[in-house]
Amino acid sequence: MRIELLPSSLAAGDGQFLTSYLVNDTVAIDAGSLGLLADLGRQRRVRHVFITHEHLDHVATLPVFLENVHDPGPDSPEVLASPEVLACLRADVFNGRIWPDFFALSTPENTFVAATKLEPFRPVARAGLTITPVPVSHGVATLGLVVEDGRSAVAFPSDTGPTEAFWRHLAAVPNLRAVCLEVTFPDALAWLAKEAGHHCTATFAAERSKLSRDVRWIVVHRKPRYAAEIAREIAALGLPNVELVQPGHVYEV
Ligand SMILES: [Zn+2]
Ligand SMILES: [Zn+2]
Repeated sequence: MRIELLPSSLAAGDGQFLTSYLVNDTVAIDAGSLGLLADLGRQRRVRHVFITHEHLDHVATLPVFLENVHDPGPDSPEVLASPEVLACLRADVFNGRIWPDFFALSTPENTFVAATKLEPFRPVARAGLTITPVPVSHGVATLGLVVEDGRSAVAFPSDTGPTEAFWRHLAAVPNLRAVCLEVTFPDALAWLAKEAGHHCTATFAAERSKLSRDVRWIVVHRKPRYAAEIAREIAALGLPNVELVQPGHVYEV
């Protein structure tokens, strides 16, 4: 399985403002930076876009992406999300004001987007992958995703604070290789992390101990203004198998 966090800017290192992952170049998880991918050919290869929740850093370029890849005809990308997120996208983004309602404009002959509802714990099979949504604990209803290709599995808990069901589910997933877990705030802002349903460094470490499996822990979603501080805190913990995500790097897992 090939995984890449799509960079959201040309700045190297800590300047990651938006969230999108590509899996095997054909499946996207979230559409924060998807529509910014400079290579339009790569955007056009993405046929399935899973949206974990409606926060702007995860959906910001979904309208741009759908516009970029639209071909007149019956084939279109598919957006997969919970019914609540799909309703939110239509009411708040594709509402005829912020952007045209691509869902309503789609006809069998000329489709802009196809919507598929995700349900917790009900796996969907797409592009050779099995993807299972599992609820996590964020400020809004959010589905983490577990992606399996038959040989390996990678977990994307998305935005979350301390949570339980996700780790219980992961305990039984075969061939789990990596978990992309967020640390949004440094420990000085632990109160804000708790308020917003995010992790600070200390709760990341506590969360990690809920899963007693030997996997790579890839730290994602550091707020750019705190990224260096979080990196220092993570390094100071000296935890094994913990690394900071490298935007644009292709992880082979
Ligand atoms: Zn969020
Ligand atoms: Zn986020």
